Amino acid sequence: MAGKIDLHIHTTASDGTLTSEAAVAAARAAGISTLAVTDHDTVAGVAAAQAAGERLGVEVFSGIELSADRQGVDVHILGYGVDVENEGLGQALDWVIVERRARNERIAAGMRADGVAVTIPALEAAYPGATLGRPHFARVLVEQGRAESVADAFGRWLNRGRPYYQPRVRLTLEQAIAAICGAGGIAVLAHPLQYRFDQARLRDLVAETAQMGVSGMEIYYTGYSAQQREMLHALAREFGLLVTGGSDFHGDNKPDIHLGALAVPEDILPPLRTKLMEVRK
Ligand code: AMP
Ligand code: ZN
Ligand code: FE
Ligand code: FE
Repeated sequence: MAGKIDLHIHTTASDGTLTSEAAVAAARAAGISTLAVTDHDTVAGVAAAQAAGERLGVEVFSGIELSADRQGVDVHILGYGVDVENEGLGQALDWVIVERRARNERIAAGMRADGVAVTIPALEAAYPGATLGRPHFARVLVEQGRAESVADAFGRWLNRGRPYYQPRVRLTLEQAIAAICGAGGIAVLAHPLQYRFDQARLRDLVAETAQMGVSGMEIYYTGYSAQQREMLHALAREFGLLVTGGSDFHGDNKPDIHLGALAVPEDILPPLRTKLMEVRK
């Protein structure tokens, strides 16, 4: 029997709390048979997840979630089927990492000025190989009693407008989409309702990303209602976009999101597979 589908999860390669291997094992235990690992700005967790998938009988698509700037809004683009060794993608990610490091140094300096004990080398030692970002600073704040939980740490300290927030330079939408397509992948607009756009702006975003080469939209997503999905489906049909779905599982960094809880219908897979074959040259 075919199992469940989850095309959006994070591992310790970015800001999830399970390693690739543990995430694949947990997915299998939750009845998932098709998974995509979509860490923020890195493909470092993909190979190990695919190896674990082979052992455990879980199909694992390679994936990534890129943060892109659209007029000051952080829009996320998922990439499926990317070649993790692609040079152009690697160069784009290297640039992102340099920008992230500079920003992490600014966040850490702000926290230290407030008496929080945090350094980048210490974080790198605590989270080897991870794409360090605000979630890791959030954990430090929890560990040092400055916040009750990761979510509370964001709300008090790390969200935009809060004391430790620092902007970071992001890829443009065009660059993010080009990096994914150039690596033989397909680009998908992630969680379209997270940007809190009104209907007109959402439609603009979908039109613009479709124009730039995005070929799908994430419609099944933790917390989206049937009515919201129907509205997104209508947009996907209008712009000829594939439909995808994933939970955005992060382990304990988003403790309310559980593997296997999101229903993603099987009929999204055949068109996705066809498209993946088409773009893989
Ligand atoms: P950064 O990329 O360093 O700016 O961190 C942003 C990431 O933090 C997002 O992609 C989310 O995965 C995570 N994040 C944002 N808000 C929260 C929250 N309230 N609780 C847990 N994780 C969050
Ligand atoms: Zn995340
Ligand atoms: Fe996202
Ligand atoms: Fe995500």
